[in-house]
Parts: sequence; structure tokens; C-alpha cells
Amino acid sequence: MGANSARFVTAINPGGSLLLITEDTMSEMRSHASATYPEECCGLLVGVFEDNQRTKRVEEAMRMENVFQKEERYHRYSIDPKEFLAVESAAESKALDVVGIYHSHPNAPAKPSQFDTARAWPSLSYVVMEVRDSKPLETRSWILKEDRSEFVPEDMSVEKK
Ligand SMILES: [Zn+2]
Repeated sequence: MGANSARFVTAINPGGSLLLITEDTMSEMRSHASATYPEECCGLLVGVFEDNQRTKRVEEAMRMENVFQKEERYHRYSIDPKEFLAVESAAESKALDVVGIYHSHPNAPAKPSQFDTARAWPSLSYVVMEVRDSKPLETRSWILKEDRSEFVPEDMSVEKK
């Protein structure tokens, strides 16, 4: 785990960032998105930063509860900070990090909203899933620009385990 970061340096456009994720983790996120429809789901991606944080290798998706007020959950999510910290410290004890956050967009494109942009942190990956009629459609990963002005798309590589 984490020892082979050099393998990817030449494969990616320099400066671009990459999210490495397994098919199993993708399925787990998609199931979560279906289960909470028509409300947004949210969760944390636990894994390792590689290649000066440009690459994130996801080991696991952790479901979080959407604690935003109920009537607004169709287009808003919020993760309980206590739950976040618990996952973060559990990850650290295994030499892992929270490398990203995922959430769903019921009946909306897989693109961060203004609300998402205003609340995001640089360096984490933001995976957004479009869901319609309980079916997950497009899944995309995004990275906040350093100046926090907007999200830019991030390459995703979905690997068989
Ligand atoms: Zn959103």
C-alpha cells in the first residue's frame, strides 16, 4: 500500500490529479446513492495520497449520514463533524487518510453545485453521482482549484480489485 506511487507519474499529464478507485468501491457508492434517493447520500473515501497528493488511491468508501435538515436533503448534504473525525482517526490508525468525499445528486447532473463549491476543501477529491429514479447514472470526480473559485474535473481510474 502506497509504496508504488512512482508507477503512475509518467502515465498522467503532469499537474493533473487522479483518483484510483476499485469497481467494488464504485458499486458501494452507487448502492448508497440508490438507497437514499430522492435524498442525497454522502460518504467519505478513505485511502492513501501518492505522488505529492496528485494521486489518491481509494481503499474504502464509508457511508455517512446526511444530517442536513430533512426538507432540503434532495439537494443538500452535510456530514456530521463528529462522524467525520471518527472515520479520520480510525483511518489514521491504519496509516490511511480521508482522501475524498462522495455524494449524490438526485435528478441533477454529476457536477458540483455552488453550494458544494462554497463548502469544499482543496486537496480532497469530490465524487458526485447523478441519480434518477433511484438509478445511479454518471459518476465524476472533481477537485477544487487552489483559489477555491471553482471545481475542475479529475481523472478517475476504475480498477478491478
Ligand atoms: Zn452537490
